[in-house]
Amino acid sequence: MTVDKPAVIQLLSPFTGIACPLEHVPDPAFAQKMVGDGFAVDPTENVLVAPCDATVTQIHPSRHAVTLTTESGVELLIHIGVDTVKLRGEGFKALVEAGQKVTAKTPLVEVDMDPVAQGVKSMRTVILLTDQDRIASLKTTDATFVQAGDFLFEAQLKADTAAVVDAAQMQASEPVTVINPTGIHARPSAAIVAIAKQFDSAMMLEKDGKQVNARSVVALMGMNIAFGDEVKVLAHGDDADAAIAALVEGLKAGLGEEGADPNAVVEKKAPANDFDIYAEESLLIEKSNDERKVIGIEASAGQAKGTLYVIEAELPAVTEQGTDAAADKAALDKAVAEAKQTLVAFVAELREKGMGQKADIFVAHQELLEDPDVYDTAVAAINSGKSAGFAWAKAIEKQADFLAGMDNALLAGRAADLRDVGGRVSRILAGLSQETIPSDLPENTILVAKDLTPSDTANLDPKRVLAIATVLGGSSSHSAILARAMGIAAMAGVEERVLNLHGSAALMDTTKGQILLNPSDAELAELALQQQRQAEVQAAANAAKDEKAYTTDGVHVEIAGNIAKVSDAPKLVEKGGEAVGLLRSEFLYETSAVFPTEAEQEQAVRDVLTTLGDRPLIVRTLDVGGDKPLPYLPLPEEENPFLGERGIRVGLDKPAVLRQQLRSLLKAADAGRLRIMFPMISSLFELTLAKEILAEEAAKLGIDMSTIEVGIMIEVPSAAVMADMLAPHVDFFSIGTNDLTQYTLAIDRGHPKLAGIADGLHPAVLRLVKMTADAARAAGKWTGVCGGLAGEKDAVPLLVGLGVEELSCSVPVIPEVKHQVRSLSKAECQELAMKAMTCTDAKQVRELMKEFHAAHEAKSNCA
Ligand code: PEP
Ligand code: MG
Repeated sequence: MTVDKPAVIQLLSPFTGIACPLEHVPDPAFAQKMVGDGFAVDPTENVLVAPCDATVTQIHPSRHAVTLTTESGVELLIHIGVDTVKLRGEGFKALVEAGQKVTAKTPLVEVDMDPVAQGVKSMRTVILLTDQDRIASLKTTDATFVQAGDFLFEAQLKADTAAVVDAAQMQASEPVTVINPTGIHARPSAAIVAIAKQFDSAMMLEKDGKQVNARSVVALMGMNIAFGDEVKVLAHGDDADAAIAALVEGLKAGLGEEGADPNAVVEKKAPANDFDIYAEESLLIEKSNDERKVIGIEASAGQAKGTLYVIEAELPAVTEQGTDAAADKAALDKAVAEAKQTLVAFVAELREKGMGQKADIFVAHQELLEDPDVYDTAVAAINSGKSAGFAWAKAIEKQADFLAGMDNALLAGRAADLRDVGGRVSRILAGLSQETIPSDLPENTILVAKDLTPSDTANLDPKRVLAIATVLGGSSSHSAILARAMGIAAMAGVEERVLNLHGSAALMDTTKGQILLNPSDAELAELALQQQRQAEVQAAANAAKDEKAYTTDGVHVEIAGNIAKVSDAPKLVEKGGEAVGLLRSEFLYETSAVFPTEAEQEQAVRDVLTTLGDRPLIVRTLDVGGDKPLPYLPLPEEENPFLGERGIRVGLDKPAVLRQQLRSLLKAADAGRLRIMFPMISSLFELTLAKEILAEEAAKLGIDMSTIEVGIMIEVPSAAVMADMLAPHVDFFSIGTNDLTQYTLAIDRGHPKLAGIADGLHPAVLRLVKMTADAARAAGKWTGVCGGLAGEKDAVPLLVGLGVEELSCSVPVIPEVKHQVRSLSKAECQELAMKAMTCTDAKQVRELMKEFHAAHEAKSNCA
């Protein structure tokens, strides 16, 4: 039985001589442990003895190397000296034969020391365990001089690999079919480990005759166990029966994972074939042909010159060699404990906020931190003389690379989790903050990340971070919206190779959709020229920021702004905003863990109205769901949250919430010009219900509704198509082009891969805008746009041409949008819009706009 056999192997010195680490052997194959791990001795006497009881597996024909196999199946190689093979056995005498059983200290080879030593580079002799994966840790002698037969080193063997040898002797369950939809990935692995830890028995999981330690998340994930696979639970120990029963029961119940159906019908899997589905690169993702140009899409307009700062790459530099193994190990233990403490606090906090799913991620991170494979690999490296930081980083890298290389995308994705949690420990070891985005980023940073959450973005310091580039996300993700509001240039859907460019000098130009690496003087000069022109435009725009915007043929377009917080209102006034076209009320109390009271909500709206004076304020009722969770308003977990309980549906499902918010709005209405807007209306019945609640509350409060305009967001295609039916029931429409684009093109606005091609200038979206504006006008109502297109230079002429009367953009760009409108004639915009609607796709529309801007610029230069 595995666990009865020693999990530790002790090796005695095969020679009398000076003990030394492998790194001191002048042969890279040994020094870099390519052959195996172990220790060395520089002989001063001439008889090589067996380092332990074993069977001689092989004596090399040149008799300079011996292979032994121990009773527990561990293979050892003893190699006498460096380059000794070239002596062809001259000076070596074998004292045993292959197949012979020997006890420790049995003489194996006799060496004629003087002539041999003179003919080779070194006599340093290595004793190696060739199967490095079996080694959990090494403890080496402290002595510098050893006699043959003295203790040399000790290797702790991993329980799982040791058990592979003897798994047949363990108690095994019947085969169990895995019902977890995506197999045994991080979370189910963590659940298995949690069950295994409740028992004293050694436990393993077996698939296809291969066993791994059931207490190792990484090893379990490494098994690549998929839905429908059959596994067996193995155990040995006093409580083996109970341990097997518990884990079998857990597996049959899906290990507590949502979506794991115990009654699922599992089809037998078809045998795999070697067809490689990744043989060709994606045609959906554009790649640059120029090494120096990294391309992506504009998420927040701007140009910036700076240095790329890749968040993932910013693992602290470490020295390789440790000074004191005991101190290094203690430092590692302390750092791991500290990281664990942080994760425990995170989990508690997230659970308290009702964000269970997010909390589960950090529970899995905790398990990864406790993983014996990673930890033991690091400790082994520390014991062999590496520093804690180096040993830990290498151990993480090794396991993460292993996971990343697997053909299961989900498991491969867990490599990121491992790197994330590993980085946390590395940063503690380096005396840095645990968090990935340091608060002391250098100035002129172009921040690069795989993805940024809206809260990551909101916490950035625009004085240091000039621009953001993310591989994931799209132009209408909420992070992009925040970047625009903060005046930070941003690109999304950027080529993945940007993640390897930490520290590169770069020039981001979002209008060109590119990050130019190591820009030349000429390119920098061109940027300076462009920035100067931009500054001139901005100066002109700022000079007239408080004037209204009329087209050259005298049509007023109201330029409003989108805000999210009370403190945004004075900024809007300062920038010349004529109104608030969208107050995203869900962000007002975004960080609150408890529901804001009615009085608090009223006060917030009252404060904004007071700041705005006679400027109108459109408050959109709570628009949660999709990618916008609210800590104080738990929503059900849905398979497809963008198509589920979102926007007005939440208010109608929980009328008390909508009622309370409407009451607070009505009570604040006397402070200014309030307009109320309902989000995500898809059919008249939703609008009717919402208006009924509004009317009831107004009646109860005795408030006259005649001065309060009521409108709806047009962001679902059905609402645009049916705008003529909806128009009689509202005072205005405001088109949410972000959602209208995602629902029209069927691309999730935050989709990691596809959001980049979800362009709101698609002719299908433009046609829906026109239908909406036409329907409103026919009913004597007005139409605005509050989605991202309202502030886009390419979109403004088209929206004006399609009949939009109000543009509500992010606050910083209000003066520029006004400035642009003043340069347009409504008639030419109409003509342009008609052309755009006959384009085949968004790319063609973008081309059309390029021509339009060029012609415009040429005209204004002539004037
Ligand atoms: C939109 O969808 O365009 C919109 C303005 O709403 P939000 O971005 O808040 O979903
Ligand atoms: Mg929306």
